Amino acid sequence: MTWETQLDWPRVVGGFIGRTTRSTRAETVAEAVRSMGGTRIIVDARQVHGAEVAVVDDAALDRECVTIERVDGFVTASPRAALVIYVADCLAIFLSHEGAPAVGLAHAGWRGLAADMPGVLVRTALEAFGGSPSDLRLALSPCIRDCCFEVGEEVAEQFDAISGAVDRSHAKPHLDMIAIATAQLREAGVPAERIEVMDGCTRCDPKRFASYRWDRERCGRNVAMIGLG
Ligand SMILES: [Zn+2]
Repeated sequence: MTWETQLDWPRVVGGFIGRTTRSTRAETVAEAVRSMGGTRIIVDARQVHGAEVAVVDDAALDRECVTIERVDGFVTASPRAALVIYVADCLAIFLSHEGAPAVGLAHAGWRGLAADMPGVLVRTALEAFGGSPSDLRLALSPCIRDCCFEVGEEVAEQFDAISGAVDRSHAKPHLDMIAIATAQLREAGVPAERIEVMDGCTRCDPKRFASYRWDRERCGRNVAMIGLG
């Protein structure tokens, strides 16, 4: 198990792991959780491409592995939780609330971005734990970047109001999920210097990353994880 990128934030452990397959995933996640230290409960989600974010408290951590139904993100102040999100070309959004302290993690493809998942994640963290957007740190994972993310006009036009979101210089529009998520985080009040972007396009680099657009049905998953350290 190797972290592709580890979070370098105070009192936070976790990061982004590249390509895992159906047969290696459980062991990889277990190993990553052990490397995060402490006794942790794995918390994942039955991801549905929506923009619901759950608040996970200690009472919910009653099994070795907890799956939250029908959400695409969660926040927690429990040091026992290891939040896990699986992505192929989609974006994982990491959050640290330094005032609480608390952490959060969300999954967003274009559907999640159309529903403002980055803004929902920020607002859920602040409603649950108080504080202000400048208490937060956010990081955007490797995903299919604007070099490769060809979409239909019906998808592109949903993001035309956001500067830099759509590139129409190609045969089909290209979508920039990093530009969109960054704009939505800024709109939610997060200062620009509190937002980090992890390097890498999942479609450009199939050796490092799982990519649905590259592999289709055989596609593995990249893994995003975060916990309080
Ligand atoms: Zn690319």
